Amino acid sequence: MNTQRSHELFVHAQNIIPGGVNSPVRACRNVHAEPLFIAEARGSHLRTVDGEDFIDFLGSWGPMLVGHANPGVSEAICRAALRGTSYGAPCEDEVRLAEKVCEALPSVEMVRMVNSGTEATMSALRLARGVTGRNKMIKFIGGYHGHGDAFLASAGSGVATFSIPGTPGVPASTVADTLLAPYNDLEAVKALFEAWPDEIAALFVEPVAGNMGLMLPQPGFLQGLRELCTKYGALLVFDEVITGFRLSYGGAQERFGIMPDLTTFGKIIGGGLPVGAYGGKAEIMRHIAPEGEVYQAGTLSGNPLAMAAGLATLNILKDADYAGLESRVHNFVVELEQILKAKGVPVQIPHIASLFTVYFTDAPLLDFASVQTTDQTLFESFYKQMREQGIFMAPSAFEANMLSFAHGDEDFARALEAATHVKF
Ligand SMILES: *Cc1c(COP(=O)(O)O)cnc(C)c1O
Repeated sequence: MNTQRSHELFVHAQNIIPGGVNSPVRACRNVHAEPLFIAEARGSHLRTVDGEDFIDFLGSWGPMLVGHANPGVSEAICRAALRGTSYGAPCEDEVRLAEKVCEALPSVEMVRMVNSGTEATMSALRLARGVTGRNKMIKFIGGYHGHGDAFLASAGSGVATFSIPGTPGVPASTVADTLLAPYNDLEAVKALFEAWPDEIAALFVEPVAGNMGLMLPQPGFLQGLRELCTKYGALLVFDEVITGFRLSYGGAQERFGIMPDLTTFGKIIGGGLPVGAYGGKAEIMRHIAPEGEVYQAGTLSGNPLAMAAGLATLNILKDADYAGLESRVHNFVVELEQILKAKGVPVQIPHIASLFTVYFTDAPLLDFASVQTTDQTLFESFYKQMREQGIFMAPSAFEANMLSFAHGDEDFARALEAATHVKF
């Protein structure tokens, strides 16, 4: 495996870009590897600057559900680019994409486009606070909602009650209103509502968590959250930046049959261009400026290229065979688990739709704390050996792999073949 050019670029990049990357986890530090620099991507494959071919299991961390350089999407972007790249005035595709999102999710009656998932969650939090006149917010430990200050809280002593900034640069006062609970722990959430019955504006949850590795909600968990939010007058916000249009065309909320008050989107909805969105009941969304008083704006929001890419992507997904992809991924995961188990290591591979994470543990997986006890050394070894054989997987045990409709039997077979050669 030749990585010379990647290495040279990375060495150079580290002098002019912090850590040599524009998003930290790309640096592959969790697995003590260097990032690969990509020259080209098509379908389920990536090609590095060294000309090495990889099967891509990461899907750009989520957006690439219809595959890389999907002709329908790339051509739509090219056509849009020839008509100009930004107008600072509305365009027709914004309306059409909003319409598509509202059609796909019954809980979304109105939607506002932004430029990233981070912007979507920040804006949804501001809206929830503006509408309810309350300041506090609940999120789950290990849940990721982008890098907005208020979401970057860590659990202090007294889990489920006390939060501290998760990073320098975030004042303690900024996360003072961020309440934390362990994922899947309905009792902890209930305790927070009982402690602050009139102060909680919103509860943010990834309905299937994808940023502590893949973490599935226990039966009744999401329904329980819905009931608690309704009882205490807080808005239930589903962060569907990963799950939207991936768990099903109608997202996790369709799959689990839960109606949130607000939903945030990103990744897939931009078809690989920078897009986010937040939406929900009209009576809530009408509070956003200029119709309401909650301010939120964006020079490039509703950008014509991004809208074209998102529309083309959703057009493809509308008729896509989600069940077929899910069953291919399921069969693959079951076989992968058998191959690894036969090597005598403790392993579990939770999966749903086109998402999975390989965890090296026998212990039950319920929340972030359980992920933290998984064997990182085994994970690193597995990651590196798969990568050496041309399989590009999530470079951390705290991330999910994201497959696409472009993945075919041959890709799965090649990955399984690679797994059989892994030695622990
Ligand atoms: C990726 C992600 C975000 C942030 O989106 P960006 O586009 O990276 O800002 C927010 N929430 C979830 C659940 C995500 O996975």
